[in-house]
Amino acid sequence: MKGIIKNQPPPNFIRWVADYEKLTGTTSYSWNRLRDINDEDTRTRIINEFGYCFEKKNLRLALLQEQGFICCYCCKPLTNDKSVIIEHYNPRSKSPENMFDYNNLFVCCSGIEVGDDGEQIKPKHCGDAKDDILEIIEENGIFVRIIDPLEKESEEVFTCEKSFVYDFSGNIFESNGNQNAAFTIKQLRLNHQQLIKSRALVLEEAFPGITETGIIDLDRDEAKLYLDHYMQLHRDDEDSELKFEPFCNIVIFFLKFILHHAKTIS
Ligand SMILES: [Zn+2]
Repeated sequence: MKGIIKNQPPPNFIRWVADYEKLTGTTSYSWNRLRDINDEDTRTRIINEFGYCFEKKNLRLALLQEQGFICCYCCKPLTNDKSVIIEHYNPRSKSPENMFDYNNLFVCCSGIEVGDDGEQIKPKHCGDAKDDILEIIEENGIFVRIIDPLEKESEEVFTCEKSFVYDFSGNIFESNGNQNAAFTIKQLRLNHQQLIKSRALVLEEAFPGITETGIIDLDRDEAKLYLDHYMQLHRDDEDSELKFEPFCNIVIFFLKFILHHAKTIS
């Protein structure tokens, strides 16, 4: 996970929530009322009547831009299409009052991936695996909760960025026995084979040879430069959106390790 800094909600989203009753003809809140309008006549009628038209795709894009086009849980790259889930951190079924609370809304991955054999597979991690679960009491009586991508343990440090550690093969583990992190990994299936493989590829690209040798041959100055790169948003070309590097979380983890603990690690 990578900590998320929330922007202001899109102004037309605030208007849409305020106009909900007039727009939908009901006071009963339903997520399905926020949708894309594919009919130009309907869009024109709404604009004529209300002065604007807000659609689900507008919200999705705002959240994608806010997160630098990576999943709020696994940091997989996201594209601006319907494969992206608009995620309610507090599930709609459990906290209907937070259904349209912008601070409860994120984007996460879902949908089809192509496996090694070229077959399409449904990976079932992150949003698909969360399945309306936010917190549970485990068999040992301990209360555990999926880590909130907004939560901070200090002004500058996001809880989620201190809660996980990784190995050179791309596996993710909880940090220092962190029970919430262990539950987050288990419930969201963050050690799904596809995710491990993707993280290992990114790690190998960032530090060639690391997955074989376990050695990162960087000095502190180089590590600092790399860290700046992975912490920042990038634009591929003039027209594209600002994005974080895919699975930047694992590279950032090792770069911070170098900067805090050693000149080189092995
Ligand atoms: Zn994900």
